[in-house]
Amino acid sequence: MTEVKIIGAGLAGSEAALQLAKRGIKVKLYEMRPNKQTGAHKTEKFAEFVCSNSLGSYDITNASGLLKHEMEILGSELMPIIFESQVPAGGALAIDRELFSEKVTQKIEENPNIEVIREEVTKIDENSPCIIASGPLTSDTLAADIKNFLGEEYLYFFDAIAPIIEKDSVNFEKAFYLNRYNKGDADYINCPMNKEEYEKFYDILTNAPKIELKSFEKDAKFFESCLPIEVLASRGVDTLRYGPLKPVGLVDERTGIENYAVVQLRQDNKSASLYNLVGFQTNLKWGSQKELIQSIPGLEKANIVRYGVMHRNTFINSPKSLNPTLQSRKNKNLFFAGQITGTEGYTESIASGLLAGINMAKYIANEELVELPQETILGALTHYITFEGHTSFQPINSNWGILAEMEMDKKVRKNKKMKNELLAKRALETIQKFKQN
Ligand SMILES: Cc1cc2nc3c(=O)[nH]c(=O)nc-3n(C[C@H](O)[C@H](O)[C@H](O)COP(=O)(O)OP(=O)(O)OC[C@H]3O[C@@H](n4cnc5c(N)ncnc54)[C@H](O)[C@@H]3O)c2cc1C
Repeated sequence: MTEVKIIGAGLAGSEAALQLAKRGIKVKLYEMRPNKQTGAHKTEKFAEFVCSNSLGSYDITNASGLLKHEMEILGSELMPIIFESQVPAGGALAIDRELFSEKVTQKIEENPNIEVIREEVTKIDENSPCIIASGPLTSDTLAADIKNFLGEEYLYFFDAIAPIIEKDSVNFEKAFYLNRYNKGDADYINCPMNKEEYEKFYDILTNAPKIELKSFEKDAKFFESCLPIEVLASRGVDTLRYGPLKPVGLVDERTGIENYAVVQLRQDNKSASLYNLVGFQTNLKWGSQKELIQSIPGLEKANIVRYGVMHRNTFINSPKSLNPTLQSRKNKNLFFAGQITGTEGYTESIASGLLAGINMAKYIANEELVELPQETILGALTHYITFEGHTSFQPINSNWGILAEMEMDKKVRKNKKMKNELLAKRALETIQKFKQN
């Protein structure tokens, strides 16, 4: 009988193991803790929440909430344990993390189809089915072997992410489409600044508080082209105007004015609903990022779907390496799940473990794998991370901007709650077709 190896008993690996086990498939689950720790985990228990104890919203008008409902329909094994471990937290779904990990560990250890092996995996076995769910803090030796398998440039070790906003929230009375020197199609959105606006922006930027890096992240080296915007700004008031905010060749033909500085936004997804701020990778606190972005002319009401972050994060170049089924393009025996695929967040990690588990079971049974449609949040996430058109791939969490477009009345589109309710209704109806036993 075919047996599946899973590397990592974190959120994704635990969910995947239970998915396979309930389908009668034997699993060997490898976990390196407590023999080797990651720097963020504190216990030897499975599915440990390393930082906050909140999974965010459970409301279907919130993208992360909708994802949780989809996971329940698909038969997530960890969702019921989340509810058993729930603690009061207003609108958020928060848990007693120790109780949760304890329950997951017990459920896995008692399962006759799962054998737990407490050792570090240092090499991928390409000849047998395996789910790699070793997380953002994958051990160095395994990371080196994954790099070897995928190719030198397909594994990253650090996030340096620029914020992403929804195009619908841009004010085009001030912003304009244009490529520098009018070359090619007008792909970029440009937000022009005069001297006074730039000075205000610079003042906010240089006085904003930053997020403390963890001790294991302090040695991180950034490429010069990937420096945080606040580091560039600290080199002098004009550094940004000669760097990412260079105004030359970007004149709005409606005004004909030479700008003092220009913030450019680059398309971030296929349907062009999301745009990232060019050169804005940042480690500023989220409140300050919002203040800074909304001080930019044209972005006064920007809806930020993803804040900039900088932290240690091992993730593969999924657009080049994976199918939306989470199966490796290079070797069908291998699936990837969790944060290592480039989705980010507790809920997203469990969700991708769920999909990888379902698909690994189908692979072993020689059945067609599940590719979820982009009308669902989980489908949209897996399509986003495996979309080959990314110019620079960075991890993402669930958000409305990645869902397939939906025809709707103009009035409804403007009402966020009504719009999200419609998108959620469509997502839940769609995912019902993929309901698992
Ligand atoms: C410091 C930090 C803080 C975070 N805070 C939050 C937060 O507050 N909210 C949020 O939503 N998300 C947060 N995340 C992001 C993410 O949701 C979590 O990291 C999540 O746990 C990822 O799930 P995972 O299953 O992919 O990996 P993990 O849960 O990390 O599981 C991977 C497992 O693999 C094991 N492992 C690694 N290498 C090997 C090996 N070679 N052999 C055997 N086992 C191995 C590890 O010990 C670990 O148990 C945070 C991430 C980090 C790094």
